[in-house]
Amino acid sequence: MSLDLSTLYLVATLVAGMLGALLLFFWRQEKIAALGWWGAAYLLGAVSIGVWVAAGAMLTEMQQAAVNALGFVACGMVWSAARVFHGRNPNWPGAMVGAAAWIAAVLWLREGAEFFRALVGAGIVAAYAALTAGQLWSERRAAMQRRWPAMVIPMLHGTVLMLPILLGGLVSHGQGTFKTNGTWMVIFTIELVLYAVGTVFIVFLMVSERTVRAHKAAASMDPLTGLLNRRGFSEATGRMIEREAKAGRPVTVMIFDIDHFKSINDRFGHPAGDEILKLFSAVMTANLRISDLVGRIGGEEFAAMLPCSVEEAVLAAERVREAFQTCGIEVDSAPVETTVSIGVAGGPADTELDVLLASADTALYRAKRAGRNRVETATEEPLSLEDARRKLAGQAAPRPATVVRRGSGISEASA
Ligand code: GH3
Ligand code: MG
Ligand code: MG
Repeated sequence: MSLDLSTLYLVATLVAGMLGALLLFFWRQEKIAALGWWGAAYLLGAVSIGVWVAAGAMLTEMQQAAVNALGFVACGMVWSAARVFHGRNPNWPGAMVGAAAWIAAVLWLREGAEFFRALVGAGIVAAYAALTAGQLWSERRAAMQRRWPAMVIPMLHGTVLMLPILLGGLVSHGQGTFKTNGTWMVIFTIELVLYAVGTVFIVFLMVSERTVRAHKAAASMDPLTGLLNRRGFSEATGRMIEREAKAGRPVTVMIFDIDHFKSINDRFGHPAGDEILKLFSAVMTANLRISDLVGRIGGEEFAAMLPCSVEEAVLAAERVREAFQTCGIEVDSAPVETTVSIGVAGGPADTELDVLLASADTALYRAKRAGRNRVETATEEPLSLEDARRKLAGQAAPRPATVVRRGSGISEASA
């Protein structure tokens, strides 16, 4: 089979141009910066190949080198697009290095060294393809099976695109036609189609995955405090319980309920109440460890899960209680008394969240009854899972008896 190399490059120009326009369209539509980078890179690539096809024969050697260099910048910009997509900065120097290497190769590798020049060109494309694939691969949160096309397609493209550069440099010195065998043409054509489809597939996959993740994050988050909401807390603690159970370590849950919060709302207004909720969430996160999970599980009720024993957790709970009491908040120059009651419950490594929450809730109830502003620990045998669920759903369940009281009384002066 005999095929005109220029025709091939024309096809490549059109494909790159169309994809570039498509990506820019989605960039405008979805406001995703990486798509702008990606689209601009493709358009630049299309311009580079297009100029080369239309006027390559008329250009001087250095002009040809400059046109090729644009193509390498385009490869570098695709890599930057992948970086931007993952929240990193675009790498302009990195995007330019390939073009500089190419110009240097053209200057140094003179007549008779076309093969080595072609090798440099192929190497640059392969290096950018590998960097792009590596960047896309490093998306840790994505599931394995979703990552492989993002990795394989740019690699495949880089590898296959190296060949025409190699052959173009070797056989035609950048112009005219060359004869190829049918197998290679089939591979090249299939690759182009695969890449065109594959690119749109990757972009679609990544954008949709990100949208789903954003929606999921929003569904697990409490907008007022930015903490996990009940659903997010339950999901995250499920993972912590599983992890700690595997290691045979205990977990401890606490429930925090702000004291007399209704009265704060009544006296100072709902917006002031909201501010105090935000303040409490800040106090809580500041006094717990980064490895502890915290969430807002109700109006003025918060919860935390700590990967530690009850004894350690009680110290942390005391810290939160004291910090909230002494935070010295004022509304309209009038000091507001802020206190919180806390119920703590721990269990063996694989205790269910509902069981722990039910026990912590029992302890919290005791803390309220005993005068508020204190930490109580549930020391009774954990409920059965069924009883725990019934209790959390608000149905009557027998209240266990022995609870140890810790913490200081309400008489403590606020700062
Ligand atoms: P206790 O010491 O027994 O816990 O009394 P309390 O007043 O804190 O408890 P109660 O359950 O009677 O009242 C909770 C109040 O929390 C009632 C509700 O209006 C208020 N609340 C719930 N969600 C929000 C919110 O998002 N913002 C504000 N400002 N208030 C809220
Ligand atoms: Mg409450
Ligand atoms: Mg309350």
